[in-house]
Amino acid sequence: MTAEGGERRYVPDDDCPLFSERLEEQLLAVTSGTAPNAGRFCGHCYTPLGERTSVCPHCEMETSDRRPVGRVPEVVIEMLQTQRRTESRIVNGFAYLGLTLAVVGGLVLVLGVPYLREHLIWATIVYAAVLIVGGRVLAGVLGGYYGDRIAYDRARGRLREEWAEWVEVRDEG
Ligand SMILES: [Zn+2]
Repeated sequence: MTAEGGERRYVPDDDCPLFSERLEEQLLAVTSGTAPNAGRFCGHCYTPLGERTSVCPHCEMETSDRRPVGRVPEVVIEMLQTQRRTESRIVNGFAYLGLTLAVVGGLVLVLGVPYLREHLIWATIVYAAVLIVGGRVLAGVLGGYYGDRIAYDRARGRLREEWAEWVEVRDEG
């Protein structure tokens, strides 16, 4: 981590100030019990702020406009957890799809090649190889690559909506 203090980072252009990397790290530490939910956080996006920081490095809110808060609201922590769950569910789904393709593809191969149909030992060896190598490759490609991207977009989209709704309620009261 080199982004400290006032350094400007890329902010995705999607109207959602949640979550800065620093907030995400902080919340992961809080939910895993290695850090207390306490400190000095931006009053708008809850990015952790230094003691003397007067402008949020993430959303550029000035602390004079919106007072920093001492803890991150529970509901914001829940939003992060929901986002992560959505992501891992989708990634896992794609990984299983990859495994299923290997299982089915292996069967098709073994049953489709006459030599293998007649030689059970070779059929078993080929099938095992397809499962082990193909399953891993397909699960990796589908889960790790496609799953990851789709999962990120989906989870992020949902987070954006939740955040927007919540900010509306927060800023009314
Ligand atoms: Zn902020």
